[in-house]
Amino acid sequence: MSHISETIKELHRELEPYGATLVAVSKFHPCEAIAEAYAAGQRVFGESRVQELLAKQKELTETQPALVSGEDPIRWHFIGHLQTNKVRQLMGRTALIESVDSEHLLSAIDTESLRAGTVTRVLLQVHVASEETKFGMLPDEFLNFFAERRFEALKATHICGIMGMASNTDDTERVRSDFRRIRSLFDRVRDDSSLGLRDFDTVSMGMSGDYRIALEEGSTLVRIGTSIFGPRQY
Ligand SMILES: *Cc1c(COP(=O)(O)O)cnc(C)c1O
Repeated sequence: MSHISETIKELHRELEPYGATLVAVSKFHPCEAIAEAYAAGQRVFGESRVQELLAKQKELTETQPALVSGEDPIRWHFIGHLQTNKVRQLMGRTALIESVDSEHLLSAIDTESLRAGTVTRVLLQVHVASEETKFGMLPDEFLNFFAERRFEALKATHICGIMGMASNTDDTERVRSDFRRIRSLFDRVRDDSSLGLRDFDTVSMGMSGDYRIALEEGSTLVRIGTSIFGPRQY
């Protein structure tokens, strides 16, 4: 068995007791790698750039149509920073946009979804990590968005939960506390029954280096690239 299929199977076994789902992050890796992971049972793939996602969907449609339009097709998650001027190109092409990092982007997605006659499922990305450069809504912004019921203005967008990253550090206690923070933001919103949210059930956190801690802290969706596909050639 190849490294890719072996790792996919191992990860599926490891995630099972948590009821968590694996997103295989295939960015910068070719369609052959995606096909190999698919053959090992993987169905959810994550991409972080619009052009790359569209190119892969096109290539697979031509070379391996069963993977994209068969009975059990790939479900694509968009996980990268999304510019509003590219939102239109994504309409109808993702099972989930995980990286909605501002209300401005959320409005753009809603407008384009309505125009396209589709409903887009999204996660709100929050920023709790120490790095200045990471995208995401601040915790207060996230909480206020719900407390002030601004989600009610959405017409064609469904918010399914939260996504976040931990600080990029060897300090595992810091990583753990970042994940705990993300999970508790999610819980505060989910447990507020006055909001009347439906299907608000997804907590996306954990990558190759820290997914075990994320699972212990309540992740339901882990996004793993390097461990499965090897290092990326940028
Ligand atoms: C690239 C990426 C990942 C995967 O990271 P690995 O360390 O390769 O597992 C996860 N989440 C996001 C948002 C990414 O951009």
